[in-house]
Amino acid sequence: ALIEADRIWMNGALVPWADAKVHVLSNGLHYGTGVLEGTRAHATARGPAVFRLDDHLRRFRESAHILGFELPYDPAALRTATLELIAANGHDECYLRHLAHLGYGEMGPGFRPGLPVEVSIAGWEWHTYLGDGAERGIRLATSSWRRNDPNAMPPAAKATAGYLNSALAKTAALRAGYDEALLLNADGYVSECSAANVFAVREGVLCTPPPSAGALRGITQDTVLTLAGDLGLEVRVQNLLRTDLYTAEEVLVTGTAAGVIPVASLDDREVGSGPITRKLQAAYTAAVTGRDERYAHWLTLVDQ
Ligand code: PMP
Repeated sequence: ALIEADRIWMNGALVPWADAKVHVLSNGLHYGTGVLEGTRAHATARGPAVFRLDDHLRRFRESAHILGFELPYDPAALRTATLELIAANGHDECYLRHLAHLGYGEMGPGFRPGLPVEVSIAGWEWHTYLGDGAERGIRLATSSWRRNDPNAMPPAAKATAGYLNSALAKTAALRAGYDEALLLNADGYVSECSAANVFAVREGVLCTPPPSAGALRGITQDTVLTLAGDLGLEVRVQNLLRTDLYTAEEVLVTGTAAGVIPVASLDDREVGSGPITRKLQAAYTAAVTGRDERYAHWLTLVDQ
C-alpha cells in the first residue's frame, strides 16, 4: 500500500510530503526515544471527523511524560494542527500518525536538556491494516515472545521502542503463515496482540485483559467496552489464559488501524466469529461515522 499524501505537519508547519525528513543522528532513531499515536478520521455526513481526538492527544502527552519529556505543543495546538493537516490533504477519511521523538543534539539514551523534541503529524489513506478479508476473521498465533513488562518497557507509554516487541512477534507470526500474534505476559496471562487489544466472549460476557497484563489502554478497547455496555452486554476487564480464548464463544481484536475484527482461529483452534462480534462491529462503524448520535461527543469535525 502506498503511504503518501500532499503535506505533513512538522514542528509547526505544513511541509510537502517529501520534505518531512530527520537527521540520521536523531536520538529517537538510535534509542527508540519517541512516542506515537494512531488515530483515524472517518467520512461522515458532515465531512471528515476525527474519532476521539482529545483522548488520543491526552495519551500522546502522557506517553511523553512517562518517558520523561514534555511535548512542546499544548493539546489545543496539536488539535488545530491535526484538523489543518486533514483539510490541507483534502482527505475524507485517513489514518493519522502523531510522532514526537528526541532529535539531533546529543548522543546517549535518555532525555537531557537541549535535546530537541520533534513533533510531526502525517495522514494517509489506509484501509486494510490486517489484510483484505480480515473482516471475515483473522488467524492468530500465540507468540513465543512475551509482552513488554510494565516495569521494563511500560506499555502505558505508546513508545516507538516498545514496538520492537511487536515487531518480533508480528514477524514470527507472518513467517509462520498467521495474520497476527497474540502475546502473553511474563506471568503467562494473555496481554494483547502486536498492535491491537484482544477480547473473548465467554458465557455471553465480553472479557478483555487489564493494563496490568501489559496491554495498552486501547481507545478502541474502551470504545468497545462502552458500546457493549450500551448494548446491554455484561463486560469484564480481567486476566485471561490462552486456553480461555481456545474455548471462548468468540474472540475479537480491536485497534484504531485494525478496527473491530473477528478472530477465526487461535493456534489453529477454530474459535469463529459470532453474533456479538457482528453487533459490536456494526455499533463501532455507526459510532465512528456519526450515524449514531449518542456518540457524537467522540467526533471532532474537520470543517467546524
Ligand atoms: N495495543 C497495541 C500494542 C497497539 O499498538 C494498538 C494500536 N494503537 C492497540 C493496542 C490498540 O489501541 P487503540 O485502540 O488505541 O488504537
